[in-house]
Amino acid sequence: MSSRRMLSIAVFAAVAVAVPVAAAAPSTAAPAPAHSVSGYVGSPQEAANNKAFYDAVMKSAQAKRAKLGNKTAAVTVVYSTSRAPSFRTQIARSAQIWNNATNNVTLAEGSNYDFYYREGNDSRGSFASTDGHGSGYIFLDYRQNQQYNSTRVTAHETGHVLGLPDHYSGPCSELMSGGGPGTSCTNPYPNSTEASRVDQLWVNGLN
Ligand SMILES: [Zn+2]
Repeated sequence: MSSRRMLSIAVFAAVAVAVPVAAAAPSTAAPAPAHSVSGYVGSPQEAANNKAFYDAVMKSAQAKRAKLGNKTAAVTVVYSTSRAPSFRTQIARSAQIWNNATNNVTLAEGSNYDFYYREGNDSRGSFASTDGHGSGYIFLDYRQNQQYNSTRVTAHETGHVLGLPDHYSGPCSELMSGGGPGTSCTNPYPNSTEASRVDQLWVNGLN
């Protein structure tokens, strides 16, 4: 019923964030100017951010892999959940979903991480953020994760780390349609096209 309306509000909030709106930003808000973000329901900077985040993670994972001297193994992308304790279950499920769907990249939790998850309140909702210099995180917004299926939100944002752009006009069967199909969409799985795209991007871990 009101999902469309909430979506519009969320999109508006995402657009309005570039303007210095008074008292809109809670203390947990992500650093905005130097960072670019791509959200679950839309962001004006999303396209550039998707690429930058993926590039940064790929570079970080490749550097560690090169140290190991194995150039043919699937790339392992390591993440931390220490700053998103409320979402450990959803994050683990999201990683499992992606690991089951793809062959050329593996997500694993660990200490020497390539990116991290964090949680809090932000008017932009959930998003993937990077400074474009090898540092990135996925922000999980409490309110949005109650409105939308939390595992889908987490898996969607993780899809950005793996290199996928948003496609809000897509159906619920697409993971990267994000909040586009509304709050009733609970599908946390990428479709075969999305999984294939990730495998192409990470084939042999080379560009
Ligand atoms: Zn997105």
